Amino acid sequence: MKLALKSALKLSLLATLVASSVASAYAADAKNVIFFLGDGMGPSVVTTARIYKYGEDGSLNMDKLERTARIKTFSNDAQTTDSAPSMAAYMTGVKMNNEVISMSQDTIAKEPSRDVNGNLGVDNCPASGNGKSVPTILELAKAKGKAVGAITTTELTHATPATTFSHICNRNAQYAIAAQSVPGGAGYNTALLDGVDVLMGGGRNHYTPWSATNKYGRADGRNLLTEFAAKGYTVAATKADMQAAPNNKKFIGLYSTRSHLEYELDRTATPPLGEGATQPSLSEMTVKAIDLLSQNSNGYFLMVEGGRIDHALHGINAKRALSDTIAFDDAIKAAIDKIKLTDPTLSNTLIIVTADHDHTLAFNGYGKRGNPILDINRDYKSGQPSKDADGNTYTTLVFGNGPNRPNLRTNVDSATALADNYLQETGVRLASETHGGGDVKLLATGAGAKTFKGTLDNTKVFDLLKAAFGF
Ligand SMILES: [Zn+2]
Repeated sequence: MKLALKSALKLSLLATLVASSVASAYAADAKNVIFFLGDGMGPSVVTTARIYKYGEDGSLNMDKLERTARIKTFSNDAQTTDSAPSMAAYMTGVKMNNEVISMSQDTIAKEPSRDVNGNLGVDNCPASGNGKSVPTILELAKAKGKAVGAITTTELTHATPATTFSHICNRNAQYAIAAQSVPGGAGYNTALLDGVDVLMGGGRNHYTPWSATNKYGRADGRNLLTEFAAKGYTVAATKADMQAAPNNKKFIGLYSTRSHLEYELDRTATPPLGEGATQPSLSEMTVKAIDLLSQNSNGYFLMVEGGRIDHALHGINAKRALSDTIAFDDAIKAAIDKIKLTDPTLSNTLIIVTADHDHTLAFNGYGKRGNPILDINRDYKSGQPSKDADGNTYTTLVFGNGPNRPNLRTNVDSATALADNYLQETGVRLASETHGGGDVKLLATGAGAKTFKGTLDNTKVFDLLKAAFGF
């Protein structure tokens, strides 16, 4: 009897201890949160980007973050998710269907239709009974008086940034997504209150009216950038505009006329390709966003997307995927260095780095240490080119699917494999490489980071973000 009582007391003491450690793990201690999202940056992308830049025993900046977790990414209706529901799961805690942006689980994705100019300007989502908006972490932060921002290297209306500030049944309704971001305008998302404080990306065509001269733009004739300016925003189109912008005003920077920002490899080429010469790097955008958002004494939420890692992977061009991963990783360092100037131990700021889903990039063969990761595979014992069963050389990186499946494999030489435009070979022949369904990594540091651990469903990340903020 006495023994039983003793163990009961022990148990209840243990329960109290467990409860208090859970409570302290959820302490509200992050004033600021920066959420870095590498689109499509699966585990093999992280590893190969590390080797590409720093070698096998080197470290990416993200590798130095001390807290890690493993994230399950499946969506409500698919084993393999697209960027809309996976990022929306992080931002809202709701598991939704593929292509849906921050809406309830019952929302069915309905494609937008073509407008008079042939663009996807007709939003078919408002049809009655098709789901409800669910609050995003950005909206919750705004409601608490924090400054909020979303910046990306893709079009600003692309799926990942869209999940932070809009609600729509289909990610392709980009003209409607743009309208949701303009304070007070028709179609505005009123949960954004006086508006997102910092917005950056590409795709100016979704914000400006269609004209016969430029053949792109909005069929409704609105110039959303004029509307933003009327609401007190600085409107920027180039890196120079961005750097000249005052830090005490709201800000929208769209650095590409009608598409995404250039890949980092092209932006830094001599001379830069496309509009790259006038575009900021993701690091420069991140530092400016922190300058703007940190004016608010209540703190901030910022989402930073390295969005084109995913595009290069769909295009089976590993070199651009890895160089965009490095640019994304550099932005993490730029942010941490910047924040440490005022918050040396990150006691007020939580930094999260993760991906929305994997891809089919495979790191294969028994390559020798130091062999360039994009090169043909060289055997670790002999240092000589490794051969397939038919006697042909092959590259260390290949994809599970995609457009480059030779009917008969032949030798690949180093010069070919290392070229900027080399497309890796693929297993299944598909027009465009698909996402992968595997788990992704999450890394964290700073205030509240210790709760991010173990294997988590992507929706759980939202709960942990909320708890870190103390919401
Ligand atoms: Zn993708």
